[in-house]
Amino acid sequence: MSPELEAAALFLERFGSKAPIVVQAPGRVSLIGGHTDYNEGFVLPMAIDRRTVIAARPRTDRIVAVSSSDFPDTRFDLGSLERGTGWAEYLKGVAWSMGADSLPGWEGVIVSTVPLGASLSSSAALEVATALTFATLTGQEWDPVEAAVMSSRAEVDWVGVSSGIMDQLISACGLADHAVLIDCRDLTQTPAPVPSDVSVVVLDTGTRRQLTESNYNQRRDECAEAARGFGVASLRDLEMPEVDNPPHGISDVAIRRARHIVGENQRTLAAAAAMHAGDPARLGSLISQAHISLRDNFEVSSPALDAIVEAAQASPGCLAASMTGAGFAGCAIAIVEETAIDSFIRNTEERYRAMTEHTPSLFTCRAASGASVVTTR
Ligand code: ADP
Ligand code: MG
Repeated sequence: MSPELEAAALFLERFGSKAPIVVQAPGRVSLIGGHTDYNEGFVLPMAIDRRTVIAARPRTDRIVAVSSSDFPDTRFDLGSLERGTGWAEYLKGVAWSMGADSLPGWEGVIVSTVPLGASLSSSAALEVATALTFATLTGQEWDPVEAAVMSSRAEVDWVGVSSGIMDQLISACGLADHAVLIDCRDLTQTPAPVPSDVSVVVLDTGTRRQLTESNYNQRRDECAEAARGFGVASLRDLEMPEVDNPPHGISDVAIRRARHIVGENQRTLAAAAAMHAGDPARLGSLISQAHISLRDNFEVSSPALDAIVEAAQASPGCLAASMTGAGFAGCAIAIVEETAIDSFIRNTEERYRAMTEHTPSLFTCRAASGASVVTTR
């Protein structure tokens, strides 16, 4: 059953009437462009057909009361928002960034097919779905870029994860059959068609990261320090010859972080060009190079991610594999010839199981459009 139908059915069971509002917002994979977003660089994500659905109805008071499978029910008052812990913080953060004073209460249910904490951005899917729920309730016109900016503020300034804008932007603005090249300096978006005859396969290592925020925020700080060391406002403004001839006194770590970001921006632009040219082999080679740089220069891979990438690369039909998203654990992706998908999945799982003690989960995904109001009738 689709998550839309499941959410509608759960709502009916719980509230005894049909949900007047059903919205969805997708998770995403990042094809290439790891950690470039908060360096004002280029990213190339695609929204996927794994999504978070909210079925809701308005309340006459200012309470938001929501249940979500596998989480305790939550309830808060828009009239007195306070920081706390748990998943409600994502909803509160969105209400806060949208201006809670002007928002009505609602109640409903959430159903999601985005794996949690797996680098597929379930948090952005939840934020953007929440923003669309509020926008629909108040009859506001839906501006996906503005909604992404507010959802991102919720994650950074309310929840406290200093992530970039990519996840929320692609969840709000995704396009079917396309990845989107985003310039994170000015949020310009350019669609890039996913080549025919290949599929994107998600390779879930079965590991989940801990201390996410501290690792992630540490990389952010290191990039800011590297930019200062090289004398640029942002690593976006640096060129490879400068990285090859660094100023005296700059640390080895700063040079490696800069080398990754500068190279990754070049690879990301080249990858978008390869998609436009319908050249999956070139796209694949760039994605595999990105993994090596994320592993060696940026140091955000993990033994499990490296193992599943290696297992994938040795399997039939694989054009490329790389970790995706922030790293440290969670998922990698592979670009695979469509005709070889079944044997690719079987082979990769077998190899990975032989290399690690973790249980992998592999599935294909399609490029999907961004957040939308759904009709369930
Ligand atoms: P990722 O975004 O990579 O999946 P995060 O750690 O950023 O990982 O976000 C995961 C957190 O987001 C969960 O622990 C939970 O607090 C919240 N979350 C995401 N999806 C849901 C959902 N469907 N229902 C409730 N909370 C959710
Ligand atoms: Mg997240």
